[in-house]
Amino acid sequence: MADAPAFTFAHMAHPAPTAASAREAAIADPGFGKVFSDHMVSIDYDLAKDGWHSPRVGPREPICLDPAASVLHYSQEIFEGMKAYKQADGSLALFRPQANAARLNASATRMAMPHLPEDLFVEAVRQLVQIDRDWFPAVDGGSLYLRPFMFATEAFLGVRPATQYKFLVIASPAGNYFKSGAPAVSIWISEYSRAAPGGTGAAKTGGNYAASLVPTADAFARGHDQVLFLDAVEHKWVEELGGMNLFFVFDDGSMVTPPLSGTILPGITRDSLLQLAREEGLTVREEPYSIDQWRSDAASGRLVEVMACGTAAVVTAVGHVAGPEGSFTIGSGGPGQLTMKLRAQLVGIQRGAIPDTHGWVVKI
Ligand SMILES: *Cc1c(COP(=O)(O)O)cnc(C)c1O
Repeated sequence: MADAPAFTFAHMAHPAPTAASAREAAIADPGFGKVFSDHMVSIDYDLAKDGWHSPRVGPREPICLDPAASVLHYSQEIFEGMKAYKQADGSLALFRPQANAARLNASATRMAMPHLPEDLFVEAVRQLVQIDRDWFPAVDGGSLYLRPFMFATEAFLGVRPATQYKFLVIASPAGNYFKSGAPAVSIWISEYSRAAPGGTGAAKTGGNYAASLVPTADAFARGHDQVLFLDAVEHKWVEELGGMNLFFVFDDGSMVTPPLSGTILPGITRDSLLQLAREEGLTVREEPYSIDQWRSDAASGRLVEVMACGTAAVVTAVGHVAGPEGSFTIGSGGPGQLTMKLRAQLVGIQRGAIPDTHGWVVKI
């Protein structure tokens, strides 16, 4: 990885970068996804011109699209979510960027889009972090959130995979994901479905999020923090939250997470927690878990903790669950010991405070 980049990115002059004073104000209280850094990386794809070409780093600016661009009509769009972290020694690092690159290509396969070479993906992200290194938030637990994404640009209204695409990476300084820094979240069991068997649930594509907006608004309106989706067929099996995977921790030291059956998103945080928990000596099973079992395990006390995980919020406790059939609490309703421990381990590895024995941390 430390070798000279195999790709040459052109650097375009930036006529009007943000003034230092405005940048400092922005990174002092960034929130999540509201403030953006000065630059973006772009790479274009044209099937008729040997695929990916013209990688460049330039000013972050509006994109010019033909009104017939197929992304606007048939939604060929995929994205990734990842973070760059400032290490204890002041250096910058990415967490498992190759896994994001591989997942982007898995999403691309499902959405009939071209693969981007994994090394080109990682280099694009690295270039952006390097040029916008002054955009790291000046707050505790802050990071630079990175949003690589790809969409169809070809002007064509026939229904078939487009032949032209754009891959971009933008960056946003990020503080804490939950406004309140919530110690435990409350979730609403949605009657809507997120993903059906054979559908696009395992792809990180904008359409899955579009479909989750009404259910999420419904959960918010009822006073909850997040929405829980059950399977689309029996409306019985727990799948995931709008953008986070779930883990169930039992009093015998075992842990369960729903399997990657094609209707849930294969989270990189999920995969990392599976490994960390196994190393902790927990028995971890990837198996279906029903909402009825959840309710009765919470009532009996056999279920001691529930964790929700994803890049943006890392690891968060689920304290309360509510649905049309009533509500219940997990444990004391606050974050449990294992949640705190695994969270601290993961955050420690990401920030270089704990040695990385897995080769997950990639220095910039
Ligand atoms: C991105 C995402 C996740 C979490 O994935 P991470 O790689 O851990 O950030 C979970 N569920 C959905 C629906 C997602 O889009």
